[in-house]
Amino acid sequence: MEISKKIFKKKDSFLHFKNTGKKSWKVESEKILNFLNKSNYLNTLNDQEKDIILRIKKDLKLLDDSKDNLFLLKNNSIVEFNTYDNESDKIQYLIHRYRYDIFPSTKELYDYPPLVQIEPSSICNFRCVFCFETDKTFTNKKNGHMGTMQLEVFKKIIDQIHNKVQFITLASRGEPLVSKDFNNMLKYTAGKFLNVKINTNASLLNEEKSHAILSSGVKTVVFSADAADEKLYSKLRVNGNLTKTLNNIKKFNEVKNKHYSKAKIITRVSGVKFSSDQNFEDMENFWGSLVDQVAFVDYNPWENNYEKEPNNITTACSDLWRRMFIWWDGKVNPCDVDYKSNLSVGNILNKNVKDLWLSKEYENLRNKHTQKKRSELTPCKSCSVV
Ligand code: SF4
Repeated sequence: MEISKKIFKKKDSFLHFKNTGKKSWKVESEKILNFLNKSNYLNTLNDQEKDIILRIKKDLKLLDDSKDNLFLLKNNSIVEFNTYDNESDKIQYLIHRYRYDIFPSTKELYDYPPLVQIEPSSICNFRCVFCFETDKTFTNKKNGHMGTMQLEVFKKIIDQIHNKVQFITLASRGEPLVSKDFNNMLKYTAGKFLNVKINTNASLLNEEKSHAILSSGVKTVVFSADAADEKLYSKLRVNGNLTKTLNNIKKFNEVKNKHYSKAKIITRVSGVKFSSDQNFEDMENFWGSLVDQVAFVDYNPWENNYEKEPNNITTACSDLWRRMFIWWDGKVNPCDVDYKSNLSVGNILNKNVKDLWLSKEYENLRNKHTQKKRSELTPCKSCSVV
């Protein structure tokens, strides 16, 4: 059996990233440092938040992108930072961004995960060649992995993390727009988080869903597409149709321009770089005028992770300190590489987010990783994420 030697650095997963109207991260970081030096809001922070701001200022002064573990505002973070109008939101954004970017390397834990990724649906209408939705042991209904989240479960999660967690993503294993409650879910998040992100293949995007996204204050919407021509697109995104996706995104833009022209939403087309036929320049030329950002993310080989031999990676996985996944049925998982929930630490229906994040089950996973024993965990033993 082939053993993958590839290491997938979660924090560097963008292979290509293009912002329209790109600014220099150094110049922008200096501006942010000046902003922090002048801010009076810092006096209102608690001790842990003040400490984080001191660390941010120290790192921003260095402006050194050659060292690991320094807090650097990459272009996508700078764009996000600049969408906030008031001082408190800007500072809270930096604090939460620091927890998300740095805590996985310093192995620090706060009471809540920096990001909670909630899955409205594990069902997908596509069968993309690079996705575990092609694994029939996952999609076979009899195995219990397929379903959509009840609105009441969603509300229960949101009530627990409101004012505690600032970054949430509505997407994980399936296509979120499959959920019949998707619009109501968005409505329930409105005004409660600094950063709500959605990932969608855009195939089910229509005028009504565009209104739901734009009126709820979603910060980032990521349209998943990996090619710039119909033939390659349909080969990669099986069941997909490029013209339809394109028209849905155009329609979304029409709704945005007509009814929400002041919305501070960031749009991105993001593809998985899977084959040598894909070309980033083609992607930029095709999608660049329709969205704010175009990106390629690295392909993370997931196939046979449950059966493969250990790959001998001993670096701890950053996801264990960065984000928590909550599946449609309330099951809590540390990542979506483990799409069949072997590592699940419990269920939101029996325990709250904070208790799960700090639970002995989660701690056991983190300890195995810090003690260089991830080979004792399946699928961590053959997973390349660090
Ligand atoms: S399978 Fe293990 S190593 Fe891989 S992403 Fe999940 S927690 Fe991290």
